[in-house]
Amino acid sequence: MPARSVTQILTGRPTSDGGGVRLVRVITPESKLDPFLMLDEFDSDEPNDYIAGFPAHPHRGFETVTYMLDGHMLHEDHLGNRGDLVAGGVQWMTAGRGIIHSEMPQQVAGRMRGFQLWLNLPAKDKMQPAGYRDLDPDDIPRVRVGDSEVTVVAGCYQSATQSPVAGPIVGGATEPLYLDLAISADTALTAATPLGHTALVYVFEGSIEIEGQKVAQGSLGRLSDGASVTCKAGPTSARVLLLAGRPLREPVVSYGPFVMNTAAEIEQAIRDFRSGQLTA
Ligand code: FE
Repeated sequence: MPARSVTQILTGRPTSDGGGVRLVRVITPESKLDPFLMLDEFDSDEPNDYIAGFPAHPHRGFETVTYMLDGHMLHEDHLGNRGDLVAGGVQWMTAGRGIIHSEMPQQVAGRMRGFQLWLNLPAKDKMQPAGYRDLDPDDIPRVRVGDSEVTVVAGCYQSATQSPVAGPIVGGATEPLYLDLAISADTALTAATPLGHTALVYVFEGSIEIEGQKVAQGSLGRLSDGASVTCKAGPTSARVLLLAGRPLREPVVSYGPFVMNTAAEIEQAIRDFRSGQLTA
């Protein structure tokens, strides 16, 4: 099987969400990147862009993965979970049948930078009890590869030359791979990607080439199928999210914070939320 190449370039759209947090929406359900539903990038050193945070709001039917690069955010949910998200930390939240939570900045100045990914759940898991994992920076392996570094948030980093390194989250229906590649200038980095899984790269610093195709900063590259991908940084170092996951191939009906398989299930979620039964 050949290495993966770029089949499409997508760019994000500036928007705001929550209490009025400015962000760039890189993936939407319309992007058709099953099992990935949404990817938001937030990056600002202007407090007015983030200070309003994400006050209490519901979710049902999928998982949210928040990866902080800079800044400090407090997460609280209806189960009594409380997690302090600091730079390099990850919050992995499985909404299942329902969660009501808030995500609020704990800083009044300085840079706030990171990503929130929405990862779909299969029909059989959408109504499972809500779950939550708070991963400290120390829980997340960082693998040196020459002058480059791979942060393994989920799945397994496997190169041609080193033994595999598993992240703190492995398995699940979509078997997500979530790597943060810090690639030094003019250097190539290869990572294995499970055959048949949807895979994409999002370049958030510098630029890269994949099989000769350039992917610039702020661009997402959808990848063809293949057992691996090789990203080569340009004349400056690059940072890249490499995401892969098993496609669910199920109907997706989404309405704001609810993502289900049918319109009737969405109507039920709205009724449950209004009657206080979302999390019951
Ligand atoms: Fe949320």
